[in-house]
Amino acid sequence: MPPHTPRNRPGCTCHPGLPAASSPPSPFLPSPFPSGPFPPRAAGGLARRGLLAATAGLVVGALPGRPRAAGAMPQTSLTAQQALELMKQGNDQFRTDAPYRSAQGREDRVKLAVGQAPFCVLVGCSDSRVSPELLFGRGLGELFIVRNAGNTVDTAALGSIEYGVGVLGCPLVVVLGHESCGAVAAALEVVARNATFPGVIGEMVQPIIPAILAARAADGTVGLDAAVEANARRVAARLKTQSPVLQAASHSGRLKIVAARYDLDDGDVSWFEDL
Ligand SMILES: [Zn+2]
Repeated sequence: MPPHTPRNRPGCTCHPGLPAASSPPSPFLPSPFPSGPFPPRAAGGLARRGLLAATAGLVVGALPGRPRAAGAMPQTSLTAQQALELMKQGNDQFRTDAPYRSAQGREDRVKLAVGQAPFCVLVGCSDSRVSPELLFGRGLGELFIVRNAGNTVDTAALGSIEYGVGVLGCPLVVVLGHESCGAVAAALEVVARNATFPGVIGEMVQPIIPAILAARAADGTVGLDAAVEANARRVAARLKTQSPVLQAASHSGRLKIVAARYDLDDGDVSWFEDL
């Protein structure tokens, strides 16, 4: 099967509220429309509070196919660009070893128990050195995260991203690759030496191979860093065309989809917005 090919679509049966979803809500997901207030949290100190105050009253519009219920938790008021700036600010704080002050205490947990209003869907690698909340200085309830080795997007990942954007109202999707990614290195081994791996690891890294082939230099070689960037860019770019939910939000200007690369030792994230 080619990478990224949506299966069992349209009509994701586990994401209530998405287009054509006619099945009952999954018991494994909280209702997207819990009742109760959700005061914006001032994570990240004064900068975040100022940003939230400045954006008060700006509400991300309802996306196609997203019903609203009376008493639903308000979605984030951040625009896509403001959400991206928050991620950049958070990474600046992380890489400069600023104190981590994001939401994780009891008061935050109590507020979030009634529902969630994250501002970013993050597609990242399972690598233990690439923990999204830490890298971007974020706390509970802020990032809707999809992780697997190699930060690829299969049906489960795509449905999760659609849920984060189409139901929860995230205005930003970040596809994050990273330095020395083992999954991308494994895909490189497949391309270079027709390597094999135990179990379904080889099948798992197959979706990375088209990005590697596209990133090859004139002599046919490709380095790991170039492959990591190419994979993140390709995954992000394909999200813009694969999903009607994401496409509609993107075309309307409410959603921004970007790729990025995390440097393991200096903690810096490079951003690729020119997809
Ligand atoms: Zn990785």
